[in-house]
Amino acid sequence: MRTPRVLILGGTGEAQTLAGALQGRAETISSLAGRTRRPSVPVGAVRVGGFGGVCGLLRYLVANRIDRLVDATHPFAAQISRHARLAADAADVPRLTLGRPMWRREPGDRWVGVSDATGAATVLRAMEGPVLLTVGPGEYAAFAELPHRMVVRRVESGEAPPFRDCAVEVARGPFDLAGERRLFDRHGIRVLVTKASGGEATEAKITAARERGLPVVMIRRPRPEPGLCVSEIRDAVDWVLGGAPSSVGSGPS
Ligand code: NAP
Repeated sequence: MRTPRVLILGGTGEAQTLAGALQGRAETISSLAGRTRRPSVPVGAVRVGGFGGVCGLLRYLVANRIDRLVDATHPFAAQISRHARLAADAADVPRLTLGRPMWRREPGDRWVGVSDATGAATVLRAMEGPVLLTVGPGEYAAFAELPHRMVVRRVESGEAPPFRDCAVEVARGPFDLAGERRLFDRHGIRVLVTKASGGEATEAKITAARERGLPVVMIRRPRPEPGLCVSEIRDAVDWVLGGAPSSVGSGPS
């Protein structure tokens, strides 16, 4: 049997770890959207940029004789996940979602759920800053009219955020608890805004907010695509190599 050829839709730490775990066992092509100037690059083959919608991805799967598709994109990258489902179904290529388990709510948590960035900005109007804003640059505009001091964490410096009073922290996860405690205390953070991304790499900020009794404005996840889903790298490896993953679900929680 020939080595399986797998397309990993990435842009996440999990996708990068999976490509590493499959090295020498499968032929991987990791796909990045190309949003960052200096991305963290996985081992194996890498392609960068959009496919051109569902039809473009379908053509790519066929032309590159892809045997399996792993959607390891961020839980909020809803469009590419939808395209992945439609294109993989049309090309008859088996598809797996490598999902990220949601953070568990614990005693002391003060989460305020909102459906999007605009909803987050609305609830912030009744709260005091400084705000630690850990959403992507694409969502900054929703917060532009707020009077609060904004502490923005982002992967690259890029364009100045559209806030009148702002500090920018350039850092790439994973983030540890000691560092997050220092960040909260250095800026006197009073509220955290985050997407409900889940996963260990960014969980420490949730713990730091809990320890300080601070509210967390949490943007809810988009509905996941239906289909096979695992959250452990080893299960994704088993699936790619043709075995049955030991624990599967029908969508990330
Ligand atoms: P999105 O809204 O779901 O996708 C928009 C378009 O970007 C897609 O239609 C596709 O273009 C292209 N695209 C997205 N991911 C791609 C990939 N891995 N490879 C090739 N093309 C891709 O995506 P997004 O939310 O902007 O996220 C973009 C990337 O950043 C993803 O890879 C995601 O894993 C990563 N990321 C996202 C977030 C977040 O909060 N959304 C956070 C961290 C990392 P075509 O239609 O032309 O194929």
